[in-house]
Amino acid sequence: MGKDIPLGRIAGIKVDMDLTVVLVAGFYTHFLATNQFPIGAPGLSTTAYWVTGVAGALLFFVSLLVHEMGHALVARDEGIGVRGISLWLLGGVAKLESAPTTARSEFRIAVIGPIASAACGVAFLASSYALPSGGIPGLIGVLFYILGYLNVVLAVFNLLPAAPLDGGTVLSSLIWSRTGSQATGMKWAARSGLVGGAALVFLGLKVIRGNGTNTVNGYSLLLVGAFVLFAALRSIRSVPLYELLDGSTVRDAMSPAPPTATAVGTVGNFLRSLPPGTTHQSYPVLSEQGTVVGLLTAAAIRAVPDHQWDSLRVADLAYPLTRITVVRSDDPLLPAVQKIDGGDVRDGLVVDQDGTIVGTVDASALFRTLELRKAHLAAARA
Ligand SMILES: [Zn+2]
Repeated sequence: MGKDIPLGRIAGIKVDMDLTVVLVAGFYTHFLATNQFPIGAPGLSTTAYWVTGVAGALLFFVSLLVHEMGHALVARDEGIGVRGISLWLLGGVAKLESAPTTARSEFRIAVIGPIASAACGVAFLASSYALPSGGIPGLIGVLFYILGYLNVVLAVFNLLPAAPLDGGTVLSSLIWSRTGSQATGMKWAARSGLVGGAALVFLGLKVIRGNGTNTVNGYSLLLVGAFVLFAALRSIRSVPLYELLDGSTVRDAMSPAPPTATAVGTVGNFLRSLPPGTTHQSYPVLSEQGTVVGLLTAAAIRAVPDHQWDSLRVADLAYPLTRITVVRSDDPLLPAVQKIDGGDVRDGLVVDQDGTIVGTVDASALFRTLELRKAHLAAARA
């Protein structure tokens, strides 16, 4: 929504926000300065209320950032690239380059958010009790109490088992781990998202119609409910794809035992060494010591005029290992392909549990596997 405003990097992770955050921060500052503070810490100057109000709005977004940083750092720990964190109207989102490939990894990435919010909540509440009452310290104490309460509410709310809330993802990962089927986990999390979203919308409408004093809460519930509902609908639509690919691993789609190229050799020599009729589209590049140092792709070879092949070294044309996505042969196919697709080279290396290279895989492998599965299912039904 709107245009992203870059805020910089934290622990190497890009953070930005959109203009709705300014709107929410302004509204929240106003609410604190004119409503909460004069009641909680009476008798102080308007300036004190407004300055503390601005600090409160800032700290509120800092706590949202802590929640999202939790997701981002654990994702990075799980080997998943993080595009960045965006703050917007309804909070924040940590944008990952690919979906987790295991139930355990999905669980860890999701559950850390509410844990981070709960930790923020406890820290704010403890600080508020440590501050003396009265005067400016008392005002700060009131602010910390409100922030502590909000963070605890955020932690609990995010644990509601309704996708796309963190609790929905936790539910999905638990079902995935119990049944071994990612599609089943997604399906139930999306269904609970539909129910949870509808319940929030209903609750919001009830609050708005009920009494005039709490309409802001009512509209917030309505907005979040609608967001959950639409995200759950979107998620329900992608379930058939996951069902079709359920149980498909990288092994099913990879090109096994690819021919290898030596880094010091020429492209011409390598091409002449290829077995006739080879269908491989990418080739691991080995150093003189036999370790993998990169990946040579057929597309890169085709991009060079053929009269240059004999003067061009493989090492100069191949992609270095740092630019190649490495996936495991037992990874589920869909997230693995997403991971490769998120990188800048469309071909990935496939390793087994010991890290030995067993194949290569490219993004189009997903579509070939999908077509095969569809054909297979059609044949089974016929
Ligand atoms: Zn979260």
